[in-house]
Amino acid sequence: MAGAADRAIGIDLGTTYSCVAVWEQEQGHVEIIVNDQGNRTTPSYVAFTDTESLVGDAAFNQILRNPTNSIFDAKRLIGRKFSDDTIQGDVKLWPFKVIEGPDDKPMIVVTYQEQEKQFTAEEISSMVLIKMRKIAEAYLGSTVTSAVITVPAYFNNSQRQATKDAGATAGLNVMRIINEPTAAAIAYGIDKKASWHGKRNVMIFDIGGGTLDVSLLTIGDGVFEVKATAGETHLGGEDFDNRLVNYCVEQFKRKTNADLTGNSRALRRLRNECEKAKRRLSFSATTEIEIDCLDKDNDFYVTITRAKFEQLNLDFFNKCMEPVEKCLRDANMDVDSVDDVVLAGGSSRIPKVQQLLENVFKGKELCKGINPDEAIAYGAAVQAAVLSGYEIEKLQDFTLLDVIPLSLGVEISVPSTGDEHCMQVVIPRNTRVPIKVNITLWTTYNNQVEAVFGIYEGESSTTLNNNFLGKFVLEGIPPAPAGHISFDVCFDMDANGILSVSAQDTSTGQKKGITIISKKQ
Ligand code: AMP
Repeated sequence: MAGAADRAIGIDLGTTYSCVAVWEQEQGHVEIIVNDQGNRTTPSYVAFTDTESLVGDAAFNQILRNPTNSIFDAKRLIGRKFSDDTIQGDVKLWPFKVIEGPDDKPMIVVTYQEQEKQFTAEEISSMVLIKMRKIAEAYLGSTVTSAVITVPAYFNNSQRQATKDAGATAGLNVMRIINEPTAAAIAYGIDKKASWHGKRNVMIFDIGGGTLDVSLLTIGDGVFEVKATAGETHLGGEDFDNRLVNYCVEQFKRKTNADLTGNSRALRRLRNECEKAKRRLSFSATTEIEIDCLDKDNDFYVTITRAKFEQLNLDFFNKCMEPVEKCLRDANMDVDSVDDVVLAGGSSRIPKVQQLLENVFKGKELCKGINPDEAIAYGAAVQAAVLSGYEIEKLQDFTLLDVIPLSLGVEISVPSTGDEHCMQVVIPRNTRVPIKVNITLWTTYNNQVEAVFGIYEGESSTTLNNNFLGKFVLEGIPPAPAGHISFDVCFDMDANGILSVSAQDTSTGQKKGITIISKKQ
């Protein structure tokens, strides 16, 4: 069992807010740790000034004075390429500068201590993780070296690996990367354990600031078995804020003729107020946004109804239901087989989202019992305690069986069709991890002396539409007719969802491989 001096923590590294928690063995419960400002969640913000760098509330609170050097949304950048469509869309909305770095990596540009500096999303995330670690250390009164960190279930391989790298940079031994909805399910399972008999099918609908995750689990007798998972890595509260901001920019232009585009301070003030208004609209039918001197002497005042907010975001809200249907299909379950639909993530408080979800489940009452802002860190803390060897009474025989969100495969060429970009799936999506799969591939043309193994993830039959993860080359293949030399190809995915691939030339015994890392090979 872990000693008191090295307690492992659970960290929910969110797009907009992060949360840290620890299992308290003596009391037999999870403690959500409050930060130095007395808050249970901490903004995932990092700011750079002439003299210092600030993280969390301190960064968030100075954002209006320093919008171009105040960084948020690192989770939307992490493990992605600069040329990614979603990044290109986001870059236009962020007040800070993001440029293309080496290997198509996005680099965040700031002025820090009067000099221009560039940071990767991993570096920004690691600063947030250091902050979360320090919050835990202040509470525990001892050093923290190990953590379980959560990621959206729908994060791909490079996003997971980049998150793990951020943890290592923050000086943390990342014991496990677990999926956010799975962590929420653990929180729900512990909460409900006393009143449960037998197994239950539980759908977790988790929508936060930046991502939507839907997972279907069967929970019973301490076993949390994920049946299927689906989601969107780019759909959440910030997108709803954007729609409201755009609407207000139009209203402001109509009333004053002033264009706020490019005025990062005004846009930031507007965004803050829109986010607050959005939250209020979850509880009241109408609200006001009022900002003095938004642009020069022009004040801004507007009344927003819940109906208007819903109209502005209806396509997004409808889109939130697609992963629900997909997840049910993949798990081979119908809506009647789902016992509980559990809400997690701050944006799950939006009434329209709840109503659409209830409709999918034929009017079933949704479970709102777990705290949507804290459930993920709670589950991560439980997993950290279990991995540290604590025995948790409420979770006897705790076993977590998770799945991969996207199919993994290798690019092969099919000479008969002339298609060089076929995706041969090696591990289909929603396969349980950890897993190791071996397949045999053959040379495709006469006297082939080298074989290129391109590794991809995604559901398209052509690799051109899938996500490239990395490649390696086996050389020195003895000349022979096509199809005479075989390769033993092994896909090995660990419990964190991180993949290693190797290939062996069975004629020479020569072997090569890679672990898919965030920096593309
Ligand atoms: P999370 O990542 O789970 O902390 O969720 C953060 C997101 O939830 C942010 O986009 C918040 O604006 C949003 N959020 C928090 N509370 C509410 C609320 N009452 N109504 C609508 N959205 C909310």
